Amino acid sequence: MNDVEVVVIGAGQAGLSSAYHLRRSGYVPGEDFVVLDHAPRPGGAWQFRWPTLTYDRVHGMYALPGMELTGADPDRPASEVIGEYFAAYERAFELRVRRPVDVREVRDAGEDAGRDGRLLVRTSEGDWSPRAVINATGTWDRPFWPRFPGQERFRGRQLHTANYPGPESDAFRGKRVVVVGGGTSAVQHLMEIAGVAAGTVWVTRRPPAFREGPFEQEDGRAAVALVEERVRDGLPPRSVVSVTGLPMTEQMRKARESGVLERLPMFSRITEDGVEWADGARAEADTIVWATGFRPVIDHLSPLRLREPGGGIRLEGTRSVRDPRVHLVGYGPSASTIGANRAGRAAVRDVRALLRAEAGAGTEAGTGAGTEAGTGVGARTQAGARAAVPA
Ligand SMILES: Cc1cc2nc3c(=O)[nH]c(=O)nc-3n(C[C@H](O)[C@H](O)[C@H](O)COP(=O)(O)OP(=O)(O)OC[C@H]3O[C@@H](n4cnc5c(N)ncnc54)[C@H](O)[C@@H]3O)c2cc1C
Repeated sequence: MNDVEVVVIGAGQAGLSSAYHLRRSGYVPGEDFVVLDHAPRPGGAWQFRWPTLTYDRVHGMYALPGMELTGADPDRPASEVIGEYFAAYERAFELRVRRPVDVREVRDAGEDAGRDGRLLVRTSEGDWSPRAVINATGTWDRPFWPRFPGQERFRGRQLHTANYPGPESDAFRGKRVVVVGGGTSAVQHLMEIAGVAAGTVWVTRRPPAFREGPFEQEDGRAAVALVEERVRDGLPPRSVVSVTGLPMTEQMRKARESGVLERLPMFSRITEDGVEWADGARAEADTIVWATGFRPVIDHLSPLRLREPGGGIRLEGTRSVRDPRVHLVGYGPSASTIGANRAGRAAVRDVRALLRAEAGAGTEAGTGAGTEAGTGVGARTQAGARAAVPA
């Protein structure tokens, strides 16, 4: 059993931002806090994204706090560019991420002697007992597959964005492909697949909301506020992107003109060789691509019973209302790179207050922790650190 002050679960944007702010507050990585991640390499979910998602096609990616991402080749896969950037970041701030470590469950440590008020984090590599947990497990590991009548009888292939192989796959070349979903991933898949497929059909539940013109800060704030409201009400969050609409690019404009982005409403069932609408219309298909999004990875928190009857976890800021020792970052309104950055900072501020209240002011981690202005390690690495990201 390892006693620490804080366990951060996940080393994507949200987990690394949290780790950065913990360290900056004086907490020592590996001693006062640990970051656990079950992925094989640095990069969070980015490491798994398809090779044709090049860095220039990623829009609105914010750098992690304290270190810019400079000099990256826009034509390289985002998985490589961001993987290398995260690796450089972990090294620069000596965050000592432990991987691969799979967190299986988080529960109250119970009545064990000396464990009062602590949590128990059970992992593939042993147990940890922190006073607080910052959960930053993202959504990538929980792709959402809708269910339709007849789906199991479909003789072709079904793929999800989570295992989209890129357009060169034999799932697409010369094939009839149905793409389901109204988000950016669906549009990107369609534009790629249309170039190699025998034909594509796009179906979405609601008419897609293409957004022309600049995206002002106010629009962003309004979109985040919508998701925030759901989380405050204990409802499952929607993705931030689902409320911001689809930003129109030059490539999308061309795809629209050529008919690739003609959208049909949802079909009502799947047949052995295609899809069928309620009015009897049919489209034959060899492959169905489900670009239907992801759900928060939170099953390991279920022993804590944080969920509301509405199915979501109610948060005050990033703090769980049901258990103030648990923070969720990169969840709901903070599920974007900028949101994850801010949530990491907010969670650490709150965790510090909790630990200070418990331990008595000034003695929280026994390391001079609690001086956010940055004495010691944080201050040394904070000023102007830059990633040497290979081009
Ligand atoms: C296809 C796609 C494109 C996107 N493009 C953009 C964009 O252009 N701009 C933007 O701002 N946002 C974008 N987003 C959203 C953005 O990726 C996320 O909001 C943000 O990067 C997520 O960071 P995160 O740290 O919350 O999650 P992740 O990056 O998913 O990190 C979570 C980490 O937790 C680990 N983990 C999960 N469960 C466990 C467990 N039980 N035990 C141990 N470790 C665990 C995972 O291994 C992973 O490393 C995109 C999302 C998708 C799906």
